[in-house]
Amino acid sequence: MTDLNRNRPAAFTAPDFRDIAELVYRSSAADVENALLKERLSVQDLGALLSPAAAEQLPALAARASALTTARFGRTIQIYSPLYLSSFCCNNCRYCGFSTENKIERRVLTLDEAEQESLLLAGRGFSHILLVAGEAPAKMGVDYLVELAGRLRNRFASISIEIQPLTEAEYRRLFKAGITSVAVYQETYDQDVYREVHLSGPKADLENRLATPARVAAAGMREVGIGALLGLADWRLEGISLGMHLAWLRHYYWQTALTVSFPRLRPATGDFEPKVVVSESDLAQLLFALRIFDHDVGLLLSTREEARFRDGMIGLAPTRYSAGSCTAPGGYSNPDQTGEQFSIDDQRGIDEVCRDIKARGFDPVRKDWDAVFQQSASGGVSRKPIY
Ligand code: SF4
Repeated sequence: MTDLNRNRPAAFTAPDFRDIAELVYRSSAADVENALLKERLSVQDLGALLSPAAAEQLPALAARASALTTARFGRTIQIYSPLYLSSFCCNNCRYCGFSTENKIERRVLTLDEAEQESLLLAGRGFSHILLVAGEAPAKMGVDYLVELAGRLRNRFASISIEIQPLTEAEYRRLFKAGITSVAVYQETYDQDVYREVHLSGPKADLENRLATPARVAAAGMREVGIGALLGLADWRLEGISLGMHLAWLRHYYWQTALTVSFPRLRPATGDFEPKVVVSESDLAQLLFALRIFDHDVGLLLSTREEARFRDGMIGLAPTRYSAGSCTAPGGYSNPDQTGEQFSIDDQRGIDEVCRDIKARGFDPVRKDWDAVFQQSASGGVSRKPIY
C-alpha cells in the first residue's frame, strides 16, 4: 500500500438540507454584492449567489460568470454526443423512462451494433462520445465496455461513460482500455427525497452513489462528472451541495478534471411529475453561481434544453453542449427506434448547433483532447483547507 492509499479520505458526506438552507435564505443583497467581488468564494458566498436576493441581480451574475468563463475556456464550446447502449435497468427510479417498472421495448446493442452507431456519430463529426446505459450489469458489464473501448479508442478523441457505479479496480480496468471520463450524478442531495424516489435496486444505496465519484478519481480517471437532476428538490440547496461536493473532490483529487451537469426533468415513460418547478431563469442562476464559485469546472448543458435557451447561454457559463442526441439504444441507425429514456428538446443536428455557436462569435470545438496526452494519474491528497 502506498502513502497515497493510506491518506485516502473518507467519503464525501451530503449536507443536511435543513442545515444549509439558512446560507441561502438569509443572504442579503449586500452578501451577493460582496460575493461578486471575491476571487475565492466560500460556501457561504455560494449560498448568497444562489439566494432569492441574487435572483434580483442576475445580470451582474451573468457578467461575472461570462468574464470568468471566457478567461478560463476562451470563446469555445466543446461538442459531444451520447451513445445509448442499453435500456435495461435493475433500479426503480420513479422519474426515469428506463425504470424497471416501466413496460418499454428494451434492448442492449451488440458490440457490432454499438460500433456501427459510433461510426455514424464519427461520420457526423463527433470526436467526444459519451456511452450511456441503464444499470444492468448482467446485460452490459465491464467486459463489454473494455471490448467496445478497444474498438472505439482510435476513432474518438475521448470516450466517457455514464453507467452503473463500479469498483475502483473496475474503473482502473476501463481507464486502461481507453475510457477516460466517468459521469455519475447523485440526482438529488436531499437525502429524504433520494430515498423517496429511488424505490428499489442498488441505486437505493445513497452512500454508495455518493462515494462513487471519489472511487472514479482514485482510479486515475482523467475526469469525473457530478450532477443533480433538477425538479426533485430545492434547486438552490442542490446547488450548494454540488459546490461542496466539487470542493471536496478538488481538495482530495486535485489532479482530476471535474464537470457538473444540471439536467432538468423531461417527460418520460411513467409520467413522473416534477416535485419542484425549476425555471430557465433558475437554471441560469445555478450555472452562473457554480462558475463564479469554481472557475475551472466544466459545465454541461444538454439537448434537454430548448435551442433558444442554449443559444442564449453561449459564452455565459456552460462549456460543453451535446448535439443531435437520441436517448434510445440504436436510435442513430434507426430514427424510428422506440424505448427512449426521455424526450429531448433541442432537435438540431451537430452542423446546426455548430453554425449557431459560430453565429455568436464562439468556436464549436469538436476535438480538444487526445488520449495521447494522457499520463497515468493517481488520486493525490491535498492539504489545503476545503472551503
Ligand atoms: S435513472 Fe438510471 S438507474 Fe435509474 S432507472 Fe433510469 S437508467 Fe436506471
